[in-house]
Amino acid sequence: MYVSDRLKNMAESATIKMAQLARELKAQGHEVISLSLGEPDFDTPSHIKEAANRALQEGYTKYTPVPGLVELQEAIVTKFKRDNNLDFDKNQIVVSNGAKQCLANLSLSLLNEGDEVIIFAPYWVSYKEIIGLSGAKPVFVNATIDNDFKITASQLEAAITAKTRMVLFSSPCNPTGTVYSKADFEPLVAVLERHPEVLIASDEIYEYINFLEGGHCSIASFDSIKDRCIVINGFSKGFSMTGWRLGYMAAPTWIANACAKMQGQFTSGANSFGQKAAAEALLADMKPTYDMNEAFRKRRDLVLKLLQEIDGFKVNFPEGAFYVFPNISALYGKSVDGQTIQNSSDFCEYILHKAHVAIVAGEAFGADDCVRIAYSTSEEQLEEAIKRIKKAVDALS
Ligand code: PMP
Ligand code: GLU
Repeated sequence: MYVSDRLKNMAESATIKMAQLARELKAQGHEVISLSLGEPDFDTPSHIKEAANRALQEGYTKYTPVPGLVELQEAIVTKFKRDNNLDFDKNQIVVSNGAKQCLANLSLSLLNEGDEVIIFAPYWVSYKEIIGLSGAKPVFVNATIDNDFKITASQLEAAITAKTRMVLFSSPCNPTGTVYSKADFEPLVAVLERHPEVLIASDEIYEYINFLEGGHCSIASFDSIKDRCIVINGFSKGFSMTGWRLGYMAAPTWIANACAKMQGQFTSGANSFGQKAAAEALLADMKPTYDMNEAFRKRRDLVLKLLQEIDGFKVNFPEGAFYVFPNISALYGKSVDGQTIQNSSDFCEYILHKAHVAIVAGEAFGADDCVRIAYSTSEEQLEEAIKRIKKAVDALS
């Protein structure tokens, strides 16, 4: 008996694996603090839950059209105009079971074996595997902490070949928290203008967790390239709806049609009453979302202050999402109890067992000199977790 080569070649999700390890240690009675999974700790705002209850009572219990309830597609069109000044038609919107499925649809519908997809690194763990599934080759362009984890125009230009089919990135970024402003995008857009055959997949799932003055900028707002942009977004982060499994994309109609065709054979439409509630989330008062953003900003400031006090941590300055991605390579080669830290996985394993704090190795995001700390938990937990990390780091020599 055997599993497919496709599966064999696929890595397990490191974020999900680390969260599971933390749960197991907790079940053994340890007081584990998990800063591993990118999941807001807030409950879904009550008006959204009430909308789902109402939808259930109203009988929204059947299959929906594959690309989504028209009502939700229209709400998404309204959101794009209101928040991003982007014009889409509802036929350009496809609702899926999470942004993850949007990415899978995109990969399987558009990419062929031999195509190249440029991924800005550090990158979210699943990009590499989702792109790899199609047979296309991920090509990584590495941003460094010294450049705020932003890639440069010359790096992008150098990575584009005749085989490049798409570029893919997230802003605000998982795992670095980096946010590209309009000014940051301009030189990259100038490069993309010279390569009109390249599609641009912009993952904006952290749109509403953004501390940058001037707010969120979508690369699709550049007129010269907007007709080949695919915007991916969802409800997991900004509305604290991870378990609802609802995401969406806006794309040129031919791409939306292709993704809907793919989705029609895999999962059909997303869940019906959740879609009704999602429309409510977008159209109702967004105050709960803005309040959560403010809470994340406070936590970001706290975490940065505390992490600066750890010797050996070089800390970046995230402007969005809820991650910080410090470089910890100064600690490599140090030991405790006969165990030497050689890489980010060693470090995370050490911290999990010594400090009972779960964080994720940068290796999984294409940056083995860093670790990802998710600050999507309470200030008390964050203070305690970082105190424990500091103590464990201080024990290394
Ligand atoms: N993109 C990024 C950058 C993410 O961090 C996540 C987190 N899960 C997703 C996409 C997928 O989100 P979901 O499937 O929950 O909508
Ligand atoms: N995107 C989140 C993270 O990076 C959730 C877990 C996942 O989907 O991988 O932790």
